[in-house]
Amino acid sequence: MQIVVQKFGGTSVASPELIRNVARRVVSAKEQGKQVVVAVSAMGHTTDHLIDLARAVGDCCPEREMDMLLATGEQVTIALLAMALQNLGHRAISMTGAQAGILTDEAHTKARILKIDPVRIQKELEKGNIVVVAGFQGMNVDHETTTLGRGGSDTTAVALAAALKAEVCEIYTDVDGVYTADPRLIPDARKLDLISYDEMLELASLGALVLQARSVEVAKQYGVTINVRSSFNDNPGTLVKESSDMEECRLLSGVAHDINVAKIGLFDVPDRPGIATHLFKALADEKINVDMIIQSWMRSGRNDIVFTVTRDDLSKTIPIVERVMKEIGALGMEYNDHVAKISIVGAGMVTNPGVAANMFEALAKENININMISTSEIKISCVIEEDQAVRAVEAIHAKMIGKL
Ligand code: ADP
Ligand code: ASP
Ligand code: MG
Repeated sequence: MQIVVQKFGGTSVASPELIRNVARRVVSAKEQGKQVVVAVSAMGHTTDHLIDLARAVGDCCPEREMDMLLATGEQVTIALLAMALQNLGHRAISMTGAQAGILTDEAHTKARILKIDPVRIQKELEKGNIVVVAGFQGMNVDHETTTLGRGGSDTTAVALAAALKAEVCEIYTDVDGVYTADPRLIPDARKLDLISYDEMLELASLGALVLQARSVEVAKQYGVTINVRSSFNDNPGTLVKESSDMEECRLLSGVAHDINVAKIGLFDVPDRPGIATHLFKALADEKINVDMIIQSWMRSGRNDIVFTVTRDDLSKTIPIVERVMKEIGALGMEYNDHVAKISIVGAGMVTNPGVAANMFEALAKENININMISTSEIKISCVIEEDQAVRAVEAIHAKMIGKL
């Protein structure tokens, strides 16, 4: 029998009524003769509220206890959805991540799934049950509860689809697919019928939070087709799968923006071998992920190094950079957490010159100054001031994507 994995995000399960709506959708797949595994998020903004609660009790936040706390959100939803399914006359059973066999590494609050042992899920499916799994959580080798980072239920669903060899992983959310820009920000954004793993991975990593980037990585690794759809209507969604010739012809797939960015500059750094290693190893040792890096031209034996980290990591980054500054004899440092990263993504960029120039022109026309630039084969990113981010996305979309 074919297996389908369906994932429902926070907005889709925000109230008892919406949970009943989700139950009807799940039942409809079951009545088409499929075995159904469902992954769910916490209701509405529950995870945000739990984080606020943790901050309210004191110094934030021991990561093991954060995982214990945050994992409760999804556990409410699984039980309620299983009850709603039973009320519709169907057999259903809820499972925590651990009960579903989801084994992760030990990185509390941003764990990665190492493997899924699907035996228990398979047994329940064979008994005729719909299996409802708590998204976003797993268990490490010491039987400790872990969570997978914000948006992690997407990754739970894709990993379950891979482990169960499901025909498709349907991600139900509050928009009916992947658009050329966040449709809540850009009303002219167009829905894409199809997007390749590589382009989706770039868009998701660069701020299009419709899918957690890690879920796209897992989908690519195991060849899982993702269908991003709305839980509020029956519109066809967006398929995320291996690229085809048709997609490679598409110049641009979308524009993304990310405000979870901070930039740090280290000035008058002695220009000699080993300096970059010293700085970036110190950050890596503390598990701080550095994104863009720019080193300026040397003058009088010194240069400047500017790089970005997520805003969440800024408070951990500053003392490390201050320490390294003294160790290497740099003369100053500054940081700014009111910046944003604006990016365009498209597989067709590789063979089409002039895309970067067009993007810079769109920003220049709006009088938007570019602080930093980075490129890969299929993306260009610019760091700008945060308060200009929406105008930048609008201008780039109108000039480069709206007209395609
Ligand atoms: P869920 O709670 O279902 O996981 P999310 O809020 O994580 O939902 O993701 C859906 C949101 O992603 C949409 O409401 C939309 O505002 C946002 N989004 C950002 N970029 C895009 C994009 N390119 N296409 C579609 N949605 C996007
Ligand atoms: N509830 C978690 C979050 O809000 C996981 C998820 O929804 O995917 O990030
Ligand atoms: Mg999400």
